[in-house]
Amino acid sequence: MKQIAVLSAKGGTGKTALVAALAQAASRAGNNIALVDADAQGAELSILLSGETPNQDAEEVAMEAKLALATIDSALCNACGLCREVCRFNAVVADAEAHHILPWACCGCAACLPECPQQAIHEQSTRLGTLRQIRTPYGPLFSALLEPGQENTGQVITATRQRAARFAVENCLDYILIDGPAGTGRAAIAAYVGVDLALLVAEPGPAGMAGLERALKLASLVAAPAAVVVNKATLSEEETEKLVDAVALRDIPFLGTLPFDEALAQAMRQPQGLGFPPSGAFVDAIAPIWQACSRRLAESPRASS
Ligand code: SF4
Ligand code: SF4
Repeated sequence: MKQIAVLSAKGGTGKTALVAALAQAASRAGNNIALVDADAQGAELSILLSGETPNQDAEEVAMEAKLALATIDSALCNACGLCREVCRFNAVVADAEAHHILPWACCGCAACLPECPQQAIHEQSTRLGTLRQIRTPYGPLFSALLEPGQENTGQVITATRQRAARFAVENCLDYILIDGPAGTGRAAIAAYVGVDLALLVAEPGPAGMAGLERALKLASLVAAPAAVVVNKATLSEEETEKLVDAVALRDIPFLGTLPFDEALAQAMRQPQGLGFPPSGAFVDAIAPIWQACSRRLAESPRASS
């Protein structure tokens, strides 16, 4: 099983439509897939693919989203600082007597636990929200609703991905497709870390170029193999060429372009999803991009299982 995350540092590039189209293409090519809607704030993929608002979907399966977060017993801590050194998420803070873990910053990676000479660090199960599993025409879609007051979308995205990965392994699926949040913050890191391919979506224009630069930095930060597609390429051939040149300069694989599709844009603006269209300019252009993705993954030494 391999994981593909569609990544865009800029909002509005068509990331969700691309995930839906890839799911359709993968399914048509005979693959078994699961999907992850990792945009806990938007959940557009859930609405688009379920054909209804998620809360009205009769086939929804809900379960608790929990994550084991680290906590320090200050009575045992001697403030040696080893946990702070090992934490890549800056979740450990110190005062004069002991160290403490910021629950909103800890992602539950457990790297600090074996480092503590005092055995002062323990895992504590924390409720983050509700995980949902919805049936779509292409495979199960996993998403999450945050608990009121719960702010760390990174943690809930990690829990959602873990749940989808377990399902995919248990059911021998071929791929997980992830629709991540826009931006490059903690939530985006949680959505893209450990994937087999980060598919970066850029759109023509200066803002699209700046977004691509930020997305490339994020892919590099999480050490994800990256490839690029340009969406809405028909809006400006000149700006599209600039993007293609910038990608070539960095020696990043370029997988193709997708046209601006007004009919699809209108369908995406509906308050309730209509299901993903079976054809159209955008959908018809996706097959070669899916083939390029699956070829890259077949060649990649990195695999999730
Ligand atoms: S579990 Fe991971 S993120 Fe949390 S404090 Fe320990 S090292 Fe940092
Ligand atoms: S490693 Fe253990 S003893 Fe050292 S600062 Fe962290 S919690 Fe305290």
